[in-house]
Amino acid sequence: MINPLFNPMNSVPLLMRYILDPGRLKRLNPRQMKRYRDKAFKRIVKYAYTVPLYHDKYKKAGVHPSDIKGIDDIVKLPMVSKNDMRENFPDRILPVGHNKEKFHVICTGGTTGKSISIYTDFYTMGGSSIPFFRELEAFNLDWKKIQFANIGNFNPCRVDLVIRENFRKPLESFFSWDNQLDIDVNIPAKELIDKLNKFKPDVILAYPAIYQHLAFLKRKGYGKNIKPTVMYAAGALLDDYTRKYVEDAFGCRLLNSYQSVEAHGIIATECIEGNWHVHTDRYITEAIDDDSNLVAPGERGHLVMTRLWGRGTPIVRYTGMDDWVRITPNKKCKCGWDTPVIEGGVEGRMRANIVLPNGKVFPPGAFCFVEPVLTKYKSFVVKKYQVVQNKLDEIEVLLVIDEDLRNVGASTDVIKKEIKENYENKVGPEVKVIIKEVDEIKNKENPMKPAPIVITKVKLEEGFKVLDNIT
Ligand SMILES: [Zn+2]
Repeated sequence: MINPLFNPMNSVPLLMRYILDPGRLKRLNPRQMKRYRDKAFKRIVKYAYTVPLYHDKYKKAGVHPSDIKGIDDIVKLPMVSKNDMRENFPDRILPVGHNKEKFHVICTGGTTGKSISIYTDFYTMGGSSIPFFRELEAFNLDWKKIQFANIGNFNPCRVDLVIRENFRKPLESFFSWDNQLDIDVNIPAKELIDKLNKFKPDVILAYPAIYQHLAFLKRKGYGKNIKPTVMYAAGALLDDYTRKYVEDAFGCRLLNSYQSVEAHGIIATECIEGNWHVHTDRYITEAIDDDSNLVAPGERGHLVMTRLWGRGTPIVRYTGMDDWVRITPNKKCKCGWDTPVIEGGVEGRMRANIVLPNGKVFPPGAFCFVEPVLTKYKSFVVKKYQVVQNKLDEIEVLLVIDEDLRNVGASTDVIKKEIKENYENKVGPEVKVIIKEVDEIKNKENPMKPAPIVITKVKLEEGFKVLDNIT
């Protein structure tokens, strides 16, 4: 096979991206950015129009690429759902005439229902990590010189593996990848920390639950050489307690990074000021209500995402990610970025919302009341926790206690009592709150994946019924 880098269709635009993309967020003023986005958007709509799935939808809606003069015209385009993607795979999600053998399939995780598959190529894979470089500048890190550890999912067809096999391997004769370490998320935590200890990463990317394990071991004296400058969490909700627990153990910041397979990279990154900046030159983010109407700026809605770059399967007004967001269109941040911001971060998967008998709804990110108690007592006695809604009127808080700290500082019983009171105050008197110590918390649905912080056993329909009766 000819090395894909020798194909100027790949190498020239890719090189341009590596030169121009990282600094764009800071370089362009709002007017220039708008022009840049308008152009990119028109290009991607034209491209999507050559793809049967989009072509048919646009035809049916009576809209043609020539009707699209810029991003403001996005409302003319119909949305594309997860089901659309699934039903049109494998032959109708690439431009007509493209040989699908020349593309690689990547698939999403199956935890929120069925997974979907889309196509990527060499150029798109190369562009996927660029936002990462622009983040590192804030920490005075040069991406060409850092040691980077990626603790990811290297199962077949997952994006981590596809990139390793089809982007990095062909480049091996030109570049050394010694400064990047890929570790599979499924290896035992002690092995993981040994590998990191030898590698001495400057930057780590992993799931929140992995950090929890690592931080626990670090507290016990493992991984003495692991002194990163910054760590990023992706793939799951990072709650405040886990963040503090990990940051305290490693002595550096742990920031959120919002990624998805469909986005083929990082949609938003949390900066040191705590704002989740959307990489606005690469994505358009919109939010809609249950009837697919756009919500007002700053209002909570389901994310709709458009990818402004890349080849393979285009992603235009895609609704399949099921995340809740509140988007402020533009925010000039102290960090120097002037971008749309996802207020308070991504609120996690819709199916995990806690609905209570009184009609109150909590997205999982807003249902973590363990942390304030531990912060109050400056305690790290809780190694891990999970909040489970067993029934509409029963909440169980599972705590894994660090035995070494059980009798250090504030009494564990007092902490448990206050956690219980915290929840009781939030959920109201008709809901029973149980605090329970357990030895371990595992992800029962998918043991390969970290356990979520908040889960509910209440069926969606049951939750909706409550809400219908209230309103
Ligand atoms: Zn910022």
